[in-house]
Amino acid sequence: DPRLQAISDAIRVIPHFPKPGIMFQDITTLLLNHKVFKDTVDIFVDRYKDMDISVVAGIEARGFMFGPSIALAIGAKFVPLRKPGKLPGDVISEAYELEYGKDCLEMHIDAVQRGERAVVIDDLVATGGTLSAAIKLLESMEAEVVECACVIGLPEAKGRQSRLNGKPLYILVEPR
Ligand code: 5GP
Repeated sequence: DPRLQAISDAIRVIPHFPKPGIMFQDITTLLLNHKVFKDTVDIFVDRYKDMDISVVAGIEARGFMFGPSIALAIGAKFVPLRKPGKLPGDVISEAYELEYGKDCLEMHIDAVQRGERAVVIDDLVATGGTLSAAIKLLESMEAEVVECACVIGLPEAKGRQSRLNGKPLYILVEPR
């Protein structure tokens, strides 16, 4: 797909953020370029529009920058998966391991119904820990996770043979 090179080029790499040694993949520069931003959303929309998806679940915070546009275009609802203590209604929680320490994602229990077909969206997958927690949240409400989708996949994610918890993993680009 000729659009992928421009998407890759539009992602800014910031060394040593948020700490020494990390090469941070900054997608805010992609959002500044209307054509590239639209191409990114369109690629996901083309992939999911005829797959009977009724839920697009986006992971805080950068999954919120792509997920709603995709949901609107494919005729699905958008469900935010948030950091602890942010959602006001009744929630389920899923803790997961980070490189250093733990984190947690929450989802409103009335956001999805049993049997709904969902895709999970985030900007980047590294270890897959965050996406795994998202899958568990949706599956605990008996929704079906059809695929996880990210703009960027670090090489360590590729080592998963493009699958995650047995679910397909769809990635647009790798870091430069
Ligand atoms: P994982 O759980 O797969 O190890 O890490 C993925 C999560 O970390 C995603 O929610 C992603 O937003 C965040 N993340 C880690 N490193 C980067 C990075 O270099 N750039 C961006 N944009 N997000 C990152």
